[in-house]
Amino acid sequence: MNTKKQIGKSGIYINPIGLGTNAVGGHNLYPNLDEEAGKELVRVAIENGVNFIDTAYLYGPGRSEELVGEVLKETGKRENIVLATKGSPKFVGQELQNDNTPAFLKQAVEDSLKRLQTDYIDLFYIHYPDGVTPGYEAVGTLKELKDQGKIRAIGLSNFSLDQLKEANRDGYVDVYQGEYNLLQRSAEKEILPYTAEQNISFIPFFPLASGLLAGKYNKEMTFNDLRANMPHLQGEEFEKNLAKVEQLREIAHAKQAEVAHVVLAWYLTRDSIDAVIPGAKRADQVLNNLKTLDVQLTENEIAKIDSIFR
Ligand code: NAP
Repeated sequence: MNTKKQIGKSGIYINPIGLGTNAVGGHNLYPNLDEEAGKELVRVAIENGVNFIDTAYLYGPGRSEELVGEVLKETGKRENIVLATKGSPKFVGQELQNDNTPAFLKQAVEDSLKRLQTDYIDLFYIHYPDGVTPGYEAVGTLKELKDQGKIRAIGLSNFSLDQLKEANRDGYVDVYQGEYNLLQRSAEKEILPYTAEQNISFIPFFPLASGLLAGKYNKEMTFNDLRANMPHLQGEEFEKNLAKVEQLREIAHAKQAEVAHVVLAWYLTRDSIDAVIPGAKRADQVLNNLKTLDVQLTENEIAKIDSIFR
């Protein structure tokens, strides 16, 4: 499975197991994060062949980009890495708003370049629609930045199907990033058929359902970070989900793999999902997730996993 995949029509190739870094310096999402552990996991990822790294201004805010930038500089491997970041959120006082006007997006790219200590971004996503700027206009701004060589590919995240269609009017969108995992499959109805038809790579976020689908949680667990408000990790729903994870464990066991590996491998069998970006809090999790590349699911297993989570 370790063949490189092209993102969209960009001519940029990535390894299918990438790395999500919202827990690298994402102090506004997870309290008590250890920055050194965060830098170490990025370092270990790069040293072990991960070449697709996902960050965003919002994580920190700004701190995830800074830490990823520090590690990239130190490893001297910038040119081997496909670096993705996202912009559009801005703080107005304490309040977070989105701004996809040309002036703001251009400034957001400049600011990300500084924090990442680089002179180009491989993939820049508009993180959220702003409810005002027409999507095709916002994408047009990114196209200008692409023509100037500041970014190499154009992404959108958290747009509805209609917003995505409008934004992709001129066919410039290479990648769509949206929530998708075995417990949250609504993208299958609308977004995934569209991205497949348009040759847009779909990168699922929360692929491990924030850790639940890594197979290490039990019903005694409680959370004090962004997971505290996630319904799939509370009460009865949590228990039902844990029971489904046990069924996955049987499939994984029979293949001498772990739950996380069969989950991530399953996504990669879907049309238009060209890579996954599981997050991690420690380097060993990064190494563990790379073992997904050794897992080949049979048609039977793919169907069985599908039916457990239908
Ligand atoms: P996730 O990938 O579903 O879950 C990651 C968590 O699972 C880790 O922090 C770790 O948490 C646990 N884990 C990972 N690998 C493991 C392993 N091998 N064994 C045991 N536990 C493991 O959630 P996510 O990190 O929030 O999402 C992935 C990435 O998507 C983010 O990092 C970010 O880059 C991106 N994202 C984008 C958006 C957007 O709006 N575009 C939104 C959310 C996320 P514990 O150690 O605490 O269990």
